[in-house]
Amino acid sequence: MKLIKIIICLVAFLFRSEITEPYPFTLEEELAKNAAYIGTPGKGILAADESTGTIGKRLSSINVENVEDNRRALRELLFTTPGALQYLSGVILFEETLYQKASSGKPFVEILKEGGVLPGIKVDKGTVELNGTNGETFTQGLDGLAQRCQKYYEAGARFAKWRAVLKIAVNEPTELAIQENANGLAMYAAICQQCGLVPIVEPEILVDGPHDIKKCAEVTERVLAACYKALNDHHVMLEGTLLKPNMVTPGSESPKVAPEVIAEYTVRALQRTVPAAVPAIVFLSGGQSEEEATLNLNAMNKLKTKKPWSLSFSFGRALQQSTLKAWAGKEENVKKAQAALLVRCKANSEATLGTYKGDAQLGEGAAESLHVKDYKY
Ligand code: 13P
Repeated sequence: MKLIKIIICLVAFLFRSEITEPYPFTLEEELAKNAAYIGTPGKGILAADESTGTIGKRLSSINVENVEDNRRALRELLFTTPGALQYLSGVILFEETLYQKASSGKPFVEILKEGGVLPGIKVDKGTVELNGTNGETFTQGLDGLAQRCQKYYEAGARFAKWRAVLKIAVNEPTELAIQENANGLAMYAAICQQCGLVPIVEPEILVDGPHDIKKCAEVTERVLAACYKALNDHHVMLEGTLLKPNMVTPGSESPKVAPEVIAEYTVRALQRTVPAAVPAIVFLSGGQSEEEATLNLNAMNKLKTKKPWSLSFSFGRALQQSTLKAWAGKEENVKKAQAALLVRCKANSEATLGTYKGDAQLGEGAAESLHVKDYKY
């Protein structure tokens, strides 16, 4: 009798997830663990998920042809930069890159995992105009999303990104754009979580316009409040999500303000709207120069106030610009370009701890504005 009991206990132990815990419980644990890992202080995300069209614009700025091998070469340069992966917890990939290999034959996904970096995947399919609005948009990609997410999980992806875009103008963003984008983000987030991917919720409010920082703060609060209402309505588990917002800044046609001012406004907008259950907030750079983005993040982390989430980076342009310039598509420049990336990764890592001293040696392009009007990713 005793032996039978022991065997039953042993079997129950071996199959404990099936017997004692419904599948979603372990799924939730995995999501929360990965989201918290991405938010590890000292680390952040490299957004290298430019679509084929967008990377084409970057490559054409250095006179490099937009063909698969050049795109692969750029991504190999980024992912194999000696010493850079220690400052990263995630890299966002475009679908093509998820399945590519380095010239050594090793899949990029393996290189990242070995470096302690989670592979992420862009899953949205760009924006379309909302009927009857002044150029406001909705993000596409919900059809077939679950099947794609399952495929990406099997290929090694552990988190996803979906970029919703809003703009500030006299009558914008409209309530329609705010609600549709909040719901789209929430539906995407729910589907990702069902498939084991941590969703990055990205409601980007474009910097374009002559508005001041107060206007940006007010709109950011309205948009984030709507997003968290929708996420709650869609039963999204916030511990297994990340937020990727814009920093609160004056519009691109307005005078600039100091990083300390941006930090005050940004952190206050987040305190008012982002629940403490969210483990990390990873900012987009949104057209700021590399150095501006780093200084602003650093100022936020230096701020002595309530911050229940970690504040980190998920920069695209502000991590890659000086690297791209230094590379210029030439094999002999790879080392120089990798050195430029390492400088920015280290500086941003310090900024997540509030210890950046502004001493990153300024690579070519580090101080340059990266603003592109009406930016498409
Ligand atoms: P930027 O940092 O270049 O704004 O891009 C980040 C990103 O991933 C936008 O979706």
